[in-house]
Amino acid sequence: MTTDNRLKLTHLIKKLTDESVEQLLETASKLFAASTTAHRPDCPYCQSGSIVKNGHKCGKQEYRCKECRKTFVSTTNTLMSNSHQPSETWEELIQDTISGESISYSAKRLSISHDCAFHMRHKFLMSLEDVQTEYTVKLGGVSELDETFVLDSYKGKKLPENVNRKPRKHGESAQKAGLSKEYVCICTGIERKGAAMALTVNRAKPSSQELQDVFSEHVSCDTLALCDGLRGYATLEKTTGCSVKNVLTEQNHSFFNLNTVNSFHSFIKRRYAFYRGVATKYLNRYNALFGFAFRQIDGAFTRLKSLLLNVSIVDRFYSIRNTVSSGLLAL
Ligand SMILES: [Zn+2]
Repeated sequence: MTTDNRLKLTHLIKKLTDESVEQLLETASKLFAASTTAHRPDCPYCQSGSIVKNGHKCGKQEYRCKECRKTFVSTTNTLMSNSHQPSETWEELIQDTISGESISYSAKRLSISHDCAFHMRHKFLMSLEDVQTEYTVKLGGVSELDETFVLDSYKGKKLPENVNRKPRKHGESAQKAGLSKEYVCICTGIERKGAAMALTVNRAKPSSQELQDVFSEHVSCDTLALCDGLRGYATLEKTTGCSVKNVLTEQNHSFFNLNTVNSFHSFIKRRYAFYRGVATKYLNRYNALFGFAFRQIDGAFTRLKSLLLNVSIVDRFYSIRNTVSSGLLAL
């Protein structure tokens, strides 16, 4: 509160009757009690609610658990561990990332360096990938499965020696005609009116085994899975118990179509073009984002934020070094 406001407030309080001052004090003490207990987190190690304040550490409130005696700050085990940025900046950055803004845009808007925005974004994407592993996206009801392809990208890096082609300029197309190894495959699945998932495991067309690897854990046994006839999909009937239909051989095209998954593909391609490609090694992090951002169902964003920014036992901490070295896609 500014000194000016404090003076104004004191002036107003002086005008109150004794009875009103008493009421005011009572309300203020209730608000104070509520704010100190509401923001006191449970222990991230043993989940005990028996927590006391324990001074400050690196500008953050430190707490001590009365049960296990361990100490923690309010960001321990969250996405914000070891970060100097406040939770408001993290929330804004997560929002920008989901809305598809560029790293440069977020850096400028939030007055942080490009490197800092890069690492924050990648820490968030890595955690999003983890969350999707913990809470696997399950496709049920009527779901559409298909693949889409994007050109590989080494984004500003020299091409590795085993890559047998000249570097591509921005906006340049593939050097070989057709679906060559320059293309990376993104396998996608989406439930009509439900969740979406995207995952890359290969270049060019996926094999039956690769389709199994990608989809078998995402498809429920009562799913009607629509696809475009790539033979590998049919084997999902055996592995998951779902029913697979090829839209190309069915009559009723107003029902048997892949319109929903195609609009998901358009969304991925628009984002991919806007980013001017995504370095292929980071593609699965972005696939996690594409799946989440295309269909945010039932307050998913609020749940995600509280999952990542509140204290929890699951360690969501990635160091800056992890963001450029862990969980990279090698194709
Ligand atoms: Zn504890």
